[in-house]
Amino acid sequence: MSQEKKVQAPKNQQQAPQAVERSHCKADGCKKGVEKFGFCMEHYDWYMSGLLRGDGQKPIDFEQKYQQYMARRTRKAA
Ligand SMILES: [Zn+2]
Repeated sequence: MSQEKKVQAPKNQQQAPQAVERSHCKADGCKKGVEKFGFCMEHYDWYMSGLLRGDGQKPIDFEQKYQQYMARRTRKAA
């Protein structure tokens, strides 16, 4: 039994646009490192609170949600 190694020359040098590996948070303008689900811890918290969508974009009712989120945080901190 001969072991044939199929060495295929990597012809696909083109980068797949989907497979972009991010080293920083995908929230708009954030430069922090990724901690969870492609977000930094702060924006992961935003994501879990509905302030960010999975793709890092803000939802339509962001302003409303943000105010609720901040109100909740302030209450928690007090
Ligand atoms: Zn972030």
